[in-house]
Amino acid sequence: MFCYGEDGYSIDISQKNATPKFPFTDKTVSAANFYLYKIIVRKELDNHLLRYGPLFNQYLVDMYAKIETERLNFIRNHQNKLRADKYIHLKDAVGRQDVKADQLGKLVVLPSSFTGGPRFMHERAQDTLTYVLHYGSSDLFVTFTFKELIDLWTKGDLFGNVRCHIYFIEWQKRGLPRVHILLWLENRISSDMIDKFVNAEIQNPDLDPLLYEIVKANMIHGPCGLLNKNSPCTKEGVCSKRYPVTLIQETQRGEDGYPKYRRRSINNGGFKVSIKSIELDNRWVVPYNPVLLRTFSAHINVEITSSIKSIKYVCKYVTKGSDHAAFGLRKTDNKDEIKIYESGRYISNSEAAWKMLGFYIHDRYPSYDYYRITHLDVHLENGQRVYFTANNVAERIENPPTTTLQAFFQICQTDNFARTLLYPQVASYYVWKNKNFVRRKQCHACILEVLMTNDCSS
Ligand SMILES: [Zn+2]
Repeated sequence: MFCYGEDGYSIDISQKNATPKFPFTDKTVSAANFYLYKIIVRKELDNHLLRYGPLFNQYLVDMYAKIETERLNFIRNHQNKLRADKYIHLKDAVGRQDVKADQLGKLVVLPSSFTGGPRFMHERAQDTLTYVLHYGSSDLFVTFTFKELIDLWTKGDLFGNVRCHIYFIEWQKRGLPRVHILLWLENRISSDMIDKFVNAEIQNPDLDPLLYEIVKANMIHGPCGLLNKNSPCTKEGVCSKRYPVTLIQETQRGEDGYPKYRRRSINNGGFKVSIKSIELDNRWVVPYNPVLLRTFSAHINVEITSSIKSIKYVCKYVTKGSDHAAFGLRKTDNKDEIKIYESGRYISNSEAAWKMLGFYIHDRYPSYDYYRITHLDVHLENGQRVYFTANNVAERIENPPTTTLQAFFQICQTDNFARTLLYPQVASYYVWKNKNFVRRKQCHACILEVLMTNDCSS
């Protein structure tokens, strides 16, 4: 691929400054920067790498593995300096004089700032539940293999006004990115409107031949189960996704689950399709939105979620991250979160390209800045987590950093209004600034969140 023997990446390439006086800075170029430079599409220059086809895909995956390894190595190499312990243990242990600061505390391994890691995903799941707490259950759950459709409902008028949305991107084994979206609508969907948003029927081929073909090509599940025992969803002769679904004449709103969408039998006005010379009726249709389907002509699953009691499972499902599997015959080292993350890690070419180009794997509206989510600490007295290094351990014992919980107790002593609030309400009226709660000038309808620390999650 590099027939002129061009230099590859090395860890010591200096960053060049824009000012000619000091041409080189003391910073180095990261692998992420370097390979982004290599693969980027330029308007007037031909980037020959993009012409390599499958070999280019291989290059993307290998180089992204290098980028991710570099990031993980950075985290690993900074573990020894940065340790965490509960404040009370820190104080006790150093009081005993016989323990060195660099032996204290357990390793903080893969922090939540590492995009896509388990802590990152867990934190996002908590954030999603905050939306649920504030706005109630989401109204629609959309799964799709691309992202332009966010424009369609933020700029268009597909579902009426959208109050907020949240999405996550996941990579499937076959490599296509898939986006899971939760939508909260300004006007909640009433029972008689469900049919307008979500359809689970084959269209009339004479009235709407185009939609009939799109549904046939994209939204028919199976055949599986007894009709096709080799189908991947079939477990012991039964479909694990619970197809075929029962036929029903009218949509019924489920009490604590997904609604039962109208699926008419062929005798009562339903239609059928023939796939692999097997005739399938409305029992096999994956719920869809007709407008979205017509626009994108792709597999887009839409479900009404407002009646789902277990919205927590939906929140967890969308934040579950990409598939991976690992097995071994040796006892693993559970303390090494980086090793656990790396074992069974699977990178597809599209995930590699997506991440190298710096696209988000998660976004939400309202965004961080507008409706800010404040993470609130919960801990027992002197049980807060303290991060320290060998150099600052003495100082940390003298002045442990204030947590939001301690600051809340402090303002309650002097501020009569604060005393009327519950702890989770405090962020609606106060901003967390310089380790202090400061009264907001304008009260946004803020969202807040209690971030349970691991130690008191019980
Ligand atoms: Zn199936």
